[in-house]
Amino acid sequence: MPIILLGIIFVSILMGVLHVIARDKTLTSKMKRRIRLGQSKAGSKTKVVFVIAHPDDEVMFFSPTILNHVSDANKYEVYILCLSTGNYYNKGSLRIQELYDSCNCLGVKLKNTFVIDERILPDNPNIKWDKKFIAESVRNLVDKEDISVIFTFDQYGISGHSNHQDIYRGVQYLIYQDDCPEDIQAFQLVSVSIFRKYLSVLDTFYSYMTSSLIFTSPWLQVWKSQQAMCAHWSQFTWFRFLYIMFSRYMIINTYEPIDIPIELD
Ligand SMILES: [Zn+2]
Repeated sequence: MPIILLGIIFVSILMGVLHVIARDKTLTSKMKRRIRLGQSKAGSKTKVVFVIAHPDDEVMFFSPTILNHVSDANKYEVYILCLSTGNYYNKGSLRIQELYDSCNCLGVKLKNTFVIDERILPDNPNIKWDKKFIAESVRNLVDKEDISVIFTFDQYGISGHSNHQDIYRGVQYLIYQDDCPEDIQAFQLVSVSIFRKYLSVLDTFYSYMTSSLIFTSPWLQVWKSQQAMCAHWSQFTWFRFLYIMFSRYMIINTYEPIDIPIELD
């Protein structure tokens, strides 16, 4: 028992140290050379948008990144763009409200939280989403709000949900169009193996050593993420409870720039 306690204390201290280092890492020399995160115009905030597929994606997958940016409110303005209402079980209107409550808990302003309710983007893993429509939807918000950084899923989509994967293809399509402004940067949240996915905080060190862009949450932020997850009460099941206890995505986010598509059709 004392060994377990010592282990928890050690991991807590390590998390705190890595959190500070990781914040620096996102914003200092290495990143500026390789990824140039946050090139805002002089005197203005960098506006970042999280493009998600369903209400609850923001907290299940992106909350460490959201909380890191929200906590630096002098530098960043955070937006959420949810491309469906999460209406698979006909609970769309309830889930929209849950998204607003969750974003409020995470510190994202209500006026910066957008939900798209279009028949062409149903919450359904068996229906392919049109990448050009996704690109257009994201572009509209980016242009309207002068957003310069996009965070979204990678091509596996963390959970393997096809709506997540289609968003990756839509954002990839957007940023490699000839008329896309050059200063827009887009990052994909890296999907890890199922083994690492449920390592919780124990994946921190490996993630830090192998990633070029990482955001981690210290315990108070993890607690806030868990509270935000509770806003999605309609989605709560026993395995969701296990997810928020053990998923490394509640604590660690690692990113890569979105890569060049093989073909643009
Ligand atoms: Zn989702």
